[in-house]
Amino acid sequence: MTARLREAMVLEPGDEGYSDAVTTVTGTGTPDVVVRPISTGDVADALLYAKQEGMLVTVRGGGHNLAGLTQARNGLLIDMRRLNAVERVGKTPRVRIGGGATWGRVAKALEPEGLALTAGDTADVGVAGLTLGGGIGWMVREYGLAVDSLVAAELVTAEGKILQLSEDENPELFWAVRGGGGNFGVLTGLEFEAHPVTNVVFGTVMFALDLLTDARALVSGWFAHQKDADRRLTSVLALLPAMQGSPAMGMLQFCFDGDETAAAEHISAFKALGPSMGEDISYRPYASILVTDDPFPAPPAAQQSSLLPDFGVAEQTAACKAFETGEIMMALRALGGAMAAVPAEATAFAARHAQVMVIGTRLLSGESDGDQNIPGWRRIQDCAAGAYVNWLDTADDKASRLSYPQQTRRRLSRIKAEYDPRNVFSRAVQFAE
Ligand SMILES: Cc1cc2nc3c(=O)[nH]c(=O)nc-3n(C[C@H](O)[C@H](O)[C@H](O)COP(=O)(O)OP(=O)(O)OC[C@H]3O[C@@H](n4cnc5c(N)ncnc54)[C@H](O)[C@@H]3O)c2cc1C
Repeated sequence: MTARLREAMVLEPGDEGYSDAVTTVTGTGTPDVVVRPISTGDVADALLYAKQEGMLVTVRGGGHNLAGLTQARNGLLIDMRRLNAVERVGKTPRVRIGGGATWGRVAKALEPEGLALTAGDTADVGVAGLTLGGGIGWMVREYGLAVDSLVAAELVTAEGKILQLSEDENPELFWAVRGGGGNFGVLTGLEFEAHPVTNVVFGTVMFALDLLTDARALVSGWFAHQKDADRRLTSVLALLPAMQGSPAMGMLQFCFDGDETAAAEHISAFKALGPSMGEDISYRPYASILVTDDPFPAPPAAQQSSLLPDFGVAEQTAACKAFETGEIMMALRALGGAMAAVPAEATAFAARHAQVMVIGTRLLSGESDGDQNIPGWRRIQDCAAGAYVNWLDTADDKASRLSYPQQTRRRLSRIKAEYDPRNVFSRAVQFAE
């Protein structure tokens, strides 16, 4: 290890800052060494040190991976969070973001510039981690996935080589990092084309499910309005089971990139879906709609995602039947629009034609036997084109097959073999044969 690396950035168990570095949403890790780089060169040094010592490498960004991939048990943990600069490129809408930044920081930095990127819904999620899987955010129907705004990136390979990626430089690797996960190297910088966004209409409408005929009426009414709506409208309908004294509820949240007058028809269509238990709708800065997730519900919580190409009666029934078991929270996330306008083979995120992403969450009680199956989920999978890799709680072969169609897996495997033949970056969903 170089003197610079040791003195400036290395933490061992017991050091101040170690505990923060090893704590992720799935729990606490126990790596032998933590490195906290502040430059691309530091990342290269750390990787060369790991190679020399034969250490397992884990790369940590926002720490939100649900499969526990960044909860390192041993080896070297590279905590990227100090590489978090957000810089506008001259007067262009281009923005360079450090590989350890989080979306909340990016949204706040871009707000005064009248710019924004379509990110996830949570401020503490890492830019690199979310983008490496695709990135589904509040403006997915208007501006596509996060990867669709990515124009270039900088990556350090396992051998410590620094590569620039774009459609013109290392295009295969650039294709792979847009959906193929953290398999290929450490992303030290990401350059995006940001979009002109200031205030948006953001709203939450709550529905009492017991006052409706059933959840199905709410689901079909929501989708009928959302399906072909203006691309500026993206919404998520969550079905919440009765718990801790609260009745079952539907929670509809939406983001409309325009003012209240332009949003009026959508607001009234949503409010007409059923008797409202309350609402909160306002015109406010985009950066303010990203939530912080502290405290995140304690794991273990089974989390599954399915990307549904159609969301007709069969799919709606499957989703509602799973919810009606009373054991899971179900979120239905509207897709389509700009996301669907990109060809399936253009990036490693292939499920472009999905209309809806269904996310099932089962919060397990303390006495749980650890059975993570989500009731009714098989029927949903039967209707699905696959799953969103960033929203799975396992990283095994099954997760790989669900996340990547065969053709995509083969291409990703070839690129993996070329750039990481020693599988140094094993802390990602790998590509099953
Ligand atoms: C509360 C919560 C809300 C979420 N909301 C959304 C959402 O709205 N939209 C959405 O699309 N997803 C969402 N997700 C899923 C999220 O996209 C994934 O969990 C994502 O992998 C998190 O990235 P991270 O950097 O925070 O996590 P980490 O656990 O730090 O990293 C995730 C993966 O990326 C790798 N990685 C991280 N940084 C780098 C880097 N610089 N270079 C190379 N590899 C790296 C890690 O090794 C790991 O494999 C959410 C998850 C949670 C828990």
